[in-house]
Amino acid sequence: MNKAALEFSSRPENVAFARVAVAALASQLDFTLSDLEEIKVAVSEAVTNAIIHGYDNNPECMVRLEIKIVEEFIEIEIIDTGKGIKDITKALEPAYSTDPERMGLGFSFMQSFMENFSVSSSPGKGTRVKMSR
Ligand code: ATP
Ligand code: MG
Repeated sequence: MNKAALEFSSRPENVAFARVAVAALASQLDFTLSDLEEIKVAVSEAVTNAIIHGYDNNPECMVRLEIKIVEEFIEIEIIDTGKGIKDITKALEPAYSTDPERMGLGFSFMQSFMENFSVSSSPGKGTRVKMSR
């Protein structure tokens, strides 16, 4: 097993930082460029959600990213200690968003681009998205 854990400020420019970190570890496996691109999209969506929804764009908060390489799989967790999700079933519906300006497709991308996906959350405590491929 090879693993890494990172914590970074809840700033939009750190979405790119998270993507690159994941891609750097993922490149130790036999993923194609298009696989890597999909994994990076899934990470971007989860990190963006933590920043904009979990923390309401407060740059003083911290997002945690955990990456594990287990045999030929990559496992990724994105964790925030922000406001949490009241109704996870609803949040996972395609095109559902609590923000009328947004598409509500982030979770759909994560589910379609990753092999395994789960989200746990409690209001007021935060959200943890776990996915692997
Ligand atoms: P898009 O991703 O298309 O820009 P979106 O972020 O609203 O739109 P999803 O990523 O699918 O859509 O998330 C659905 C909803 O789940 C969000 O509108 C938000 O209410 C809630 N949500 C997702 N992630 C978090 C999080 N980390 N903390 C709190 N709420 C979240
Ligand atoms: Mg989103």
